[in-house]
Amino acid sequence: MRKDVRILLVGEPKVGKTSLIMSLVSEEFPEVVPYRAEEITIPADVTPERVPTHIVDYSEAEQTDEQLFQEISKANVICIVYSVNNKKSIEKVTSHWIPLITDNTDKDSRVPLILVGNKSDLVEHSSMETILPIMNQYSEIETCVECSAKNLKNISELFYYAQKAVLHPTGPLYCPDRKDMKPLCIKALTRIFKVSDLDNDGILNDTELNFFQRICFNTPLAPQALEDVKNVVKKNLSDGVCDNGLTLKGFLFLHTLFIQRGRHETTWTVLRRFGYDDDLDLNQDYLFPPLKLPPDCTTELNHNAYLFLQSVFDKHDKDRDCALSPEELKDLFEVFPYMPWGPDVNNTVCTNDQGWITYQGYLSQWTLTTYLDVQRCLEYLGCLGYSIIAEQESQASGITVTRDKKIDLQKKQTQRGVFCCNVFGDFGSGKSGFLQGILGRNLMRQKTIREEHRSFYAISTTYVYGQEKYLLLHEVFPDFDYLSDADLSCDIVCLIYDTGNPHSFEYCAKIFKQYFMDSKVPCMMVAAKSDLPEIKQLYSCSPLEFCRKHKMPPPQSFTCSTAGAPSRDIYTKLTTMAMYPHVSQADLKSSTFWLKASVGATVFAVLGFAMYRILLKPR
Ligand code: GDP
Ligand code: MG
Repeated sequence: MRKDVRILLVGEPKVGKTSLIMSLVSEEFPEVVPYRAEEITIPADVTPERVPTHIVDYSEAEQTDEQLFQEISKANVICIVYSVNNKKSIEKVTSHWIPLITDNTDKDSRVPLILVGNKSDLVEHSSMETILPIMNQYSEIETCVECSAKNLKNISELFYYAQKAVLHPTGPLYCPDRKDMKPLCIKALTRIFKVSDLDNDGILNDTELNFFQRICFNTPLAPQALEDVKNVVKKNLSDGVCDNGLTLKGFLFLHTLFIQRGRHETTWTVLRRFGYDDDLDLNQDYLFPPLKLPPDCTTELNHNAYLFLQSVFDKHDKDRDCALSPEELKDLFEVFPYMPWGPDVNNTVCTNDQGWITYQGYLSQWTLTTYLDVQRCLEYLGCLGYSIIAEQESQASGITVTRDKKIDLQKKQTQRGVFCCNVFGDFGSGKSGFLQGILGRNLMRQKTIREEHRSFYAISTTYVYGQEKYLLLHEVFPDFDYLSDADLSCDIVCLIYDTGNPHSFEYCAKIFKQYFMDSKVPCMMVAAKSDLPEIKQLYSCSPLEFCRKHKMPPPQSFTCSTAGAPSRDIYTKLTTMAMYPHVSQADLKSSTFWLKASVGATVFAVLGFAMYRILLKPR
């Protein structure tokens, strides 16, 4: 909402502009007034809408046209004053004042106008008959009011309407010609309805309506009031109420009613609470709340955010198969201005047999967005209405900024839940197969992936000593001369060569020597396509000797040319190394270290699955 309001009064001489201002200030009619009142500022706490308000007078006798034009362009709302007993002053409203104002204001930023008929004490009848056609002709006229500076009639109302016209303009909401809400307003309210429809059944039931009322207006709705609202809707619209709750049609009708009855501040309160600005776009301040991100820290979703995302998943997984069908996914993102996930997401996270994103995959993709691009994550959470529905201050309260990695290394422990592994390897060495392997996809399954739907990321959970962690794999494009900071910064490096290609190891050795030999990041050598017969690598030493020499674990065999899902061992090992980068090579070599880690993995993977099943049952 605006921080202040500037009201300008214009009109023919002697219609009573100065008197109106003086009457408002002194609460009595001044018999003698100057040509022009000084600009006055009413402090926020004495105005109805609690914003500082400046009132500016105009006098043809004291001001040049240039000064008038300047005031017009500065004003947030303009009152065109006429005198009800002076026909000429009414004519001038359309012949002079409205065109003059149109010429001196920006085409895009419309200034609301208010028609003010002063000196109502002097006549018996109202001027409304003459005024209404003018109102219908010009959509920028917010309202009209008849008043009298002399007997103080409607004076404070006049300034209240002016203030309201600025703070709660009807322009963006309503089209007076069509007597209906504007498309953008319908779109925004539809989104609000969908966010507030917590069980996604297309109806706001009493619980949802009460919640909505509380978050928008901070007060509960009396049970009778709730019934009254529904009755009003029902009376006017047969399908506005269904199963004793409000349908989208009913919800939109209710707001049309508010606006038509001049209660559009109600609709504005709702719109603003859900993050909309005066142009009915989601506010940048709402979408991108400040979040401090020191260097060497990463971003993760906290428990609260996961719970919220879980509820969003549940609300859209209508057939309860723990996966989102294309329709369900489309429905989930209906509250977004655009579809945020492309087909590559289906190859970044776990999917079911039909290729639909599973519950696990859905949470993984959110985790990935949070890790790689936290601003985007804030925006997406904003679109889902996280702060409103979860009653948090902003989306930022759903994000954990982890502590500096240097401290983790010093203390030899980490609270982080997401670890990033950059995967290096020459063209065709098997990087993509390695990435798809973490999603449980063997070579056969991978062949069905369309080239344009490929992803350079894959993320899934692994279990390390019984703790669930996310491992994010990032395939680095093998351009030796150009590697970005993002290509080099990670928690663990995976160097892949092709068991069947004698030239492929050299690339790994080169990358290691150039970038990682002197860094603290742990590295792991992987011999991919281990189902093929091993061919001697053309390099000065064998991969095993190379690893030994550089204090790396021995090369790990990996193949995705399997009947079932590829083995997960390697992913557990990578996560373990990322979590415990300080663990000595001796420890890493001892089989019990790995054994403990991987035993935990299977036990917990099974347990995790069983628990999820149990959780699902009652639904
Ligand atoms: P301005 O030129 O538009 O600023 O008009 P003024 O405020 O100077 O008023 C012009 C004349 O109209 C003065 O003599 C006022 O006393 C008189 N006047 C202003 N408002 C009213 C009103 O509401 N009723 C009556 N009867 N006279 C008014
Ligand atoms: Mg005057």
